[in-house]
Amino acid sequence: MFETIVRDLLLERTDHAVELYEGSGSSWRLVKSGTPGNISSFEDILFANNEMQDTPVIAALLPNFRENSCTIGLGYIDLTKRVLGLAEFIDDSHFTNLESALVALGCKECLMPLESGKSGEMRNLHDSLARCGVMLTERKKTEFKTRDLVQDLGRLVKGSIEPVRDLISGFDIASGALGALVSYAELLADESNYGNYTIQRYNLHSYMRLDSAAMRALNVLESKTDANKNFSLFGLMNRTCTAGMGKRLLHMWLKQPLLDVGEINTRLDLVQAFVEDPALRQDLRQHLKRISDIERLTNNLERRRVGLQHIIKLYQSSIRLPYIESALGKYDGQFSLLIKQRYLDLLESLTDEDHLNKFIALVETSVDLDQLENGEYIISSSYDAALSALRKDQESLERQIHNLHKQTANDLDLALDKALKLDKGTQFGHVFRITKKEEPKIRKKLTTQFIVLETRKDGVKFTNTKLKKLGDQHQKILEEYKNCQKELVNRVVQTAATFSEVFRSLAALLSELDVLLSFADLASSCPTPYTRPDITPSDEGDIILQGSRHPCVEAQDWVNFIPNDCELVRGKSWFQIITGPNMGGKSTFIRQVGVNILMAQVGSFVPCDKASISVRDCIFARVGAGDCQLRGVSTFMQEMLETASILKGATDKSLIIIDELGRGTSTYDGFGLAWAICEHLVEVIKAPTLFATHFHELTALAFQNADPEPDMKHIVGVANYHVSAHIDSSSRKLTMLYKVEPGPCDQSFGIHVAEFANFPESVVSLAREKASELEDFAPTAIISNDSVEQVGSKRKRECDPDDVSRGAARAHQFLKEFSDLPLEKMDLKQV
Ligand code: ADP
Repeated sequence: MFETIVRDLLLERTDHAVELYEGSGSSWRLVKSGTPGNISSFEDILFANNEMQDTPVIAALLPNFRENSCTIGLGYIDLTKRVLGLAEFIDDSHFTNLESALVALGCKECLMPLESGKSGEMRNLHDSLARCGVMLTERKKTEFKTRDLVQDLGRLVKGSIEPVRDLISGFDIASGALGALVSYAELLADESNYGNYTIQRYNLHSYMRLDSAAMRALNVLESKTDANKNFSLFGLMNRTCTAGMGKRLLHMWLKQPLLDVGEINTRLDLVQAFVEDPALRQDLRQHLKRISDIERLTNNLERRRVGLQHIIKLYQSSIRLPYIESALGKYDGQFSLLIKQRYLDLLESLTDEDHLNKFIALVETSVDLDQLENGEYIISSSYDAALSALRKDQESLERQIHNLHKQTANDLDLALDKALKLDKGTQFGHVFRITKKEEPKIRKKLTTQFIVLETRKDGVKFTNTKLKKLGDQHQKILEEYKNCQKELVNRVVQTAATFSEVFRSLAALLSELDVLLSFADLASSCPTPYTRPDITPSDEGDIILQGSRHPCVEAQDWVNFIPNDCELVRGKSWFQIITGPNMGGKSTFIRQVGVNILMAQVGSFVPCDKASISVRDCIFARVGAGDCQLRGVSTFMQEMLETASILKGATDKSLIIIDELGRGTSTYDGFGLAWAICEHLVEVIKAPTLFATHFHELTALAFQNADPEPDMKHIVGVANYHVSAHIDSSSRKLTMLYKVEPGPCDQSFGIHVAEFANFPESVVSLAREKASELEDFAPTAIISNDSVEQVGSKRKRECDPDDVSRGAARAHQFLKEFSDLPLEKMDLKQV
């Protein structure tokens, strides 16, 4: 649930509805209510509100369950951009693919056929929607039909019907979902939709897949509980200048990081151009500040929900384009060809005589621009002969009324305006008014020559037949003039709407420019500037981040951030186990790697001294327990569900970030699970992984790798790292150094801290004794100055492989049972 306060409008979203209230303080009146997907119907009310970030996307889905998988037919509709889309894909029992599609599309509401009874699969599906914050709307099964769909789409979509037919053919399940959406959103009821939609197939593999857990773990989007906007990546990165549209594009890009090296580099080239030329950047950003929300304006223009003031906003944005064009034209750095091809050529074609210049000419000839200063939006008289004649009549009548006023003041011997006033009101039209004080002077004449209309505190209102006649004529002309204005405004809006295609292209161009400038601004204005990452394809290169920081933690005033290197190298340190004391910076470190990679694939510079990134198809993150309000799922169960979705969905091209796994269960189970999961990730999934853990025993995995024994499975590329801390025995202080260093960590921090907290001596020594009893296979402390090799050989001596595998064997069994369990048999509470 969250609230957005917009001037005196309050938009409240609940799980079931969106409601718009009007008012202030404690008194609010419900103006409109609808579903989250239906929010576009609020646009006329919220039109001026640029704070709305999300475009409303509604999806519909038809699940087709099979033995151990499910085919999902997905249809969606972006009401603002007027895009229809469909996709069909196989999904696992955790709906990993569906979740990443819903995240990437920014979906708010999802239609599904009414199901009788809830099976295990359906429950999982519902949970998946809930995790993504998507509201479920159940509709009758019969609405998910494909009859007449091609014809319906043919009316909505531009161009001929054949491409539509080709696009949906073979997508029978998704077509049913799309059919339900078309009728739910009542697209055919609004004629302005006809021919204005585009239709596309959504490819699951166009963008990096991000599920809701990863979005949460990496704090990608703003959360309602964030006290500071810099806590989220979106809040930090949003330095856009245009009214609304840049912000919305950034929101979308963060949900859709790119996979194509060429596309990522094109964005990075442009960001580099703007980083290297600060004057150009400032100049362009100044101009963009004056650009309205062309995207939303165009949307409303197409629906004819605009007035002259909106046309003027489009005009004022259009006349700024030559400045933007000339600023870009002055750039002569290494990316001038790209800037020319990407922006200048398009701007030139959009602004030529047949397009925006024609629109500018339309506005300049039709609208009275001089009146804008007075806040009046009217058609100028010179635009239309009839309007001009009416205007002349109106002025002539105003002159005659003025003369009559003058004449009457003269006749009555009263000072013009001071004593005898001329009023105009809705009740009587034009009337004379005299103050009560002056009234006795002319009382006689008043009764004989005039008609007294009203006597009030502010004086006596009166008229005569002449004034009445002129007033009536004036009123009539005024009505005619207003009607004529209205008609002409409609005509101008109608003509302006023929430019909507041009405005759409312009909005896309300017919002992209806005976001890239925003990236460049962030990259250059941080105390330690960001750097351009080198991007390599998924199956080539490693992930090397030198001097990397967490951009959001670094941006907090009270943090003096310590940069760290992260080198995920195939065959060497592709899988990293990070140990260290609580609050030592483990989570921050592993998240910052995810955030840096995500930023790079969005096309932004990264907070590192040097970065080389092999493109990731997916980021899986499981950090902290998080809130789980789903049907009483325990923290441990939630942890297992998230981990299971990693084990099922990740590939060697993904990035996996796991923090503190196995906390919610007994130490042995927890450790066993952590070990087995690590082995599975290393041997089967082979994705670069950062695994922060409090189980120091896990560091033994790396030694298996360093010196494999014939009876142990060969594990490749596992390396230990730890976050360092300094123990000062004299001052009894533990200082976190936040430096990530190779090797496993000393495990005695806990006991040190207890000692410093003045625990009784006997408790501390018993703790030491018990800890050493348990440490039968733990690697010895790095703090004792042993080299990594020494630690390794010592471990070999101390560790009985049977001990290591005892916990792991149990966990393997558990995992096997867990992942093979047919879903309908899986009782969440039982596990
Ligand atoms: P852990 O996961 O080891 O318990 P966190 O990553 O949650 O520790 O870090 C705890 C706090 O330490 C963070 O909230 C942050 O304020 C600070 N911190 C973490 N990493 C760094 C760093 N590299 N430089 C400076 N401060 C840091």
